[in-house]
Amino acid sequence: MHHSYEFQYCPVCGGGLKSSILKDNEPARLICTECDFIFYQDPKLVACTIVEIDNKIVLLKRGVEPERGKWVMPGGYVDRGEKVEAAAVRETSEECGIQVRVKNLMGIYSYTGQIEAVVVYVSEHLSGELIVGDETLEVKLLSPRDIPWDDLAFQSTVDALRDYCRLKSEI
Ligand SMILES: [Zn+2]
Repeated sequence: MHHSYEFQYCPVCGGGLKSSILKDNEPARLICTECDFIFYQDPKLVACTIVEIDNKIVLLKRGVEPERGKWVMPGGYVDRGEKVEAAAVRETSEECGIQVRVKNLMGIYSYTGQIEAVVVYVSEHLSGELIVGDETLEVKLLSPRDIPWDDLAFQSTVDALRDYCRLKSEI
C-alpha cells in the first residue's frame, strides 16, 4: 500500500524521465526528455466502511504488509471511473463477504507526504455472514468501547474511528 516506485521511462514514448521544477511553489514533476510529456503523480484514493451490525462494528486483522497483524476497517483502492461509494461496498464484500449499504460519509483522511487519501463511510449491513478473506487473519465484531486503539494499522484508521466514537457518544 505504501510502496513508492520511481518511474524511469515515459509511458507515452519510452524516453527517459527527469525530475524538474516547472513552477515555483509546486513539487518537482517527472518530464520526458524525448516528448515533453509531464508525468503528474496523483494521489491514490482509498474507500473504507465502518460497518455497523447490532451496535458493533467490523474490524479486520491485516494478513499482508504493510501493518500485518494490525486492525483496519474493510476498504481498498478505488478503481479509475468507479463511484467511490461503490468501491467501498465492493471492497467490503471482497474482504469480509457481506453486502452493505453506505449511510453517510464519516470523513476524508489525508496527510502531508502520504500518497493515499482515505474516504471513510459509515454503512449498514444488508446481508451475508462475515468471512475471513485471503488477505485477512481474523474478522471481529467489536463494540466501539473495545476498539484496540494501540493495534490499529494506519493513522486514518485511528482518526476515522475516533471521529466515529465521538459522533456516537453525542447521540
Ligand atoms: Zn515521452
